[in-house]
Amino acid sequence: MKTKLAINGGKPTIPAGTIKKWPPIDDSDRKMVLDSLNGANHAFGPNCTEFETEFAAWNGNKFAITTNSGTAALHMAIVACGCGTADEVIVPAYSWSSSATCILHHSCIPVFVDIDFDTINIDVSKIERAITPKTKAIIVVHLHGLPVAMDKVMAIAKKHKIKVIEDACQAHGAKYQGKKVGTLGDCAAFSFNQNKCLCSGEGGMFVTDNEEMLAKARQLWSFGESVTPTAKRDYHVYAMGWMYRNNDLTAAFGRSQLKKIDGFLKQQIANAQVLTENLRGVPGLILPTVPAQTEPNHYNYTIRFDMEKLGHAHDASAFRYKIIDALKAEGVETMVWQAFILPAMTVFQAKDGFGKGHPWSSPHAQPVDYSLSQYPVAQKHCDRHTGMTKPLRAPNGPDVARLTAEAWRKVMENIDQIK
Ligand SMILES: *Cc1c(COP(=O)(O)O)cnc(C)c1O
Repeated sequence: MKTKLAINGGKPTIPAGTIKKWPPIDDSDRKMVLDSLNGANHAFGPNCTEFETEFAAWNGNKFAITTNSGTAALHMAIVACGCGTADEVIVPAYSWSSSATCILHHSCIPVFVDIDFDTINIDVSKIERAITPKTKAIIVVHLHGLPVAMDKVMAIAKKHKIKVIEDACQAHGAKYQGKKVGTLGDCAAFSFNQNKCLCSGEGGMFVTDNEEMLAKARQLWSFGESVTPTAKRDYHVYAMGWMYRNNDLTAAFGRSQLKKIDGFLKQQIANAQVLTENLRGVPGLILPTVPAQTEPNHYNYTIRFDMEKLGHAHDASAFRYKIIDALKAEGVETMVWQAFILPAMTVFQAKDGFGKGHPWSSPHAQPVDYSLSQYPVAQKHCDRHTGMTKPLRAPNGPDVARLTAEAWRKVMENIDQIK
């Protein structure tokens, strides 16, 4: 007798309530946040400065500035790299929106490079042909926690005298050639949003080893002033400034989570390995690639459907959503992380960020082409992927990973039941 899929009325593989929520909260978190609440400074307070010191030490950076988001840290990175009106910044065609909109935030122009299908990261072999005399920086995104081949990127950047920003918002603790991401480029941005591998609700961190870049980032971060609010302020605005500071309560939460992050990441990586072992050989699936010299954190365990093999190349995206519905009915929390590649987003196709076509209409700009035919690999990935975060996260263990794999097998082995 055939197993009936849950979507057709069968029994779900994963009982409701099995998957525990992220992040795990215990008394150490409660104490840190309450102590901050009972303290005297809820704005940029003592927990913020401590968080900066502790995060820099954990990641291996000289300097860190804590922010209210990863996006703020990315904008600071653009400024730290000396980018200004109509300068070009290279970015992968597939990522979170703000990997590219942070470029617009400083009136700079994104230049998209297609991705590599296996790693889902920027295709390093296509970076060099995107460089023009206007290029000031490259943003690499260690997507889904898989590090980019940074030795190759840094060699290109050195040759062309441009800076490298690491968008490490998904990649806490991931390593390339034994070194942590965020220490490999000129500066980097981390996010502490709810879904990231270090959660403080919202929040972020700008990191660098370069004192000049630190100073530029700091000005943007706090009203264009030159010092932190804990130092002696002259309240003078030296440069364009935003208000990107973190607050004490959030930083207290971030600090208590940081004490436990290594254990959380270890669990997540172990769970990903269990998932991979149990899914290997399932027909129609393309499992995550782990190239030599990379140690991913498996932030988002991304699976692609081999739609050519499944006979659905013609309706890949639509059929993918049907499989996802079947997986969801089995109790698998899986989703489509990005339904659009970045250059297809309206803001880029319209080439209008601030009105009147700025920054593309700037007299300092040179024309850029966002024809979508330039990004076939990003589009192919975009139409075929689904990704899981929660089933892999601590405190969930290998039992959940095994159940998740079982649900995937059930759906894929009975795919003829999906209409
Ligand atoms: C989450 C994320 C960001 C933005 O971080 P926020 O804290 O949400 O602003 C940027 N880039 C990538 C790749 C992300 O995943």
